[in-house]
Amino acid sequence: METRTKELIAQAEQDLLHTYNRYQVVLDRGEGVYLYDIEGKKYLDFVAGIAVFALGYANQEYNDALKAQIDKLLHTSNYYYNVPAIEAAHKLKEVTGMDRVFFTNSGAEAVEGAIKSAMKVHAGKGKGRSEIIAMEHSFHGRTIGALSVTGNAHYREDFETIDSQVRFARFNDAESVRSLVTENTCAVILEVVPGEGGLVPADTQFLKDVRALCDEKGILLIFDEIQCGMGRTGSMFAFQNHGVKPDIMTCAKALGCGVPVGAFLMTEETAAKSLVPGDHGTTYGGNPFAAAAVREVLRQYEVRRIPEHVREIAPYFEQKLEKIAAGHDCILERRGCGLMQGLVFDRPVAPVIRAAMDKGLILINAGANILRFVPPLIIEKEHIDEMEKILEAAICEMEEA
Ligand SMILES: *Cc1c(COP(=O)(O)O)cnc(C)c1O
Repeated sequence: METRTKELIAQAEQDLLHTYNRYQVVLDRGEGVYLYDIEGKKYLDFVAGIAVFALGYANQEYNDALKAQIDKLLHTSNYYYNVPAIEAAHKLKEVTGMDRVFFTNSGAEAVEGAIKSAMKVHAGKGKGRSEIIAMEHSFHGRTIGALSVTGNAHYREDFETIDSQVRFARFNDAESVRSLVTENTCAVILEVVPGEGGLVPADTQFLKDVRALCDEKGILLIFDEIQCGMGRTGSMFAFQNHGVKPDIMTCAKALGCGVPVGAFLMTEETAAKSLVPGDHGTTYGGNPFAAAAVREVLRQYEVRRIPEHVREIAPYFEQKLEKIAAGHDCILERRGCGLMQGLVFDRPVAPVIRAAMDKGLILINAGANILRFVPPLIIEKEHIDEMEKILEAAICEMEEA
């Protein structure tokens, strides 16, 4: 490691709150599916800033769209209309099939908004329903509300507030969801493919059963599509693979492809009974800059046929991962769908991630024992081959250690 890198990391550890054990690298620039650190070392990126940079780095059209908006107007507040937000919302409705959009600054805020929307629908009717059913091992974000529906107790403990109103069901087990329903149940929230929670996709039957249960009991169904949405599973949104529609949904991560922006959306029927002026707001959410990013991202998804590309490339990716899994006793199985995949190990994957990084491949985990792959959606076979080579070497290094 060069002196400059060491100095910068030492400085960061003096100044930034220590909430991450960061990898010992200072990233500098990106191009396509590659990142470069300040020493000029090149990395093949199979994380994409955690399922964010779907369209690749140094995407000239995207950068130009943002630069043009910077010179025009960055921010207005939500007291006024702005063209990028109007156009982005219209397009987002089209690709989700939902009817109403609220832009936020992050995924967690989108989850907060989704929960508030559901609570509002059930507020004031008699005593109001306030219980939420979430899934074990789920992840919905780090703000107090989003955290309270996050199934990973490790993230939640020490910060429990509205916890008593949240119950956790077993994922892919509709009976488990049903057993937690009370007359006070307001909403069910779930990820169609849990990103942090292990990458096991939802079964179509499970989603159908939960949808039917929610309809029967007047419960709102919320899908968190923050990680699995935006083309990652081969459909624009993962729920579209199953023909089951939520009442409320969340979106973020690849929605801005690098500009911090999220959204929650709902059906007209839900909107008619939910938030009204004064109920919810945000200073930055959906400002012209963020909305210009969303508008450009959705434009590129359409012209570059991103979900189609994912459907085409994913079988090759899965095949390679299956092959890697078959070649190592320490790998128990491959999981996931589309370009959202995991390899389950019989031991912690941190040494593999570190070895891969040394060899120029960026990967992350999902829980201690699962290696997660959420690459840019524009990857081609040659990148998958390159990933395979480096990963094989990294696994062998761990096995020999
Ligand atoms: C990342 C993520 C969030 C939180 O998004 P932030 O932008 O980090 O607040 C919520 N839900 C899911 C499924 C996520 O993957």
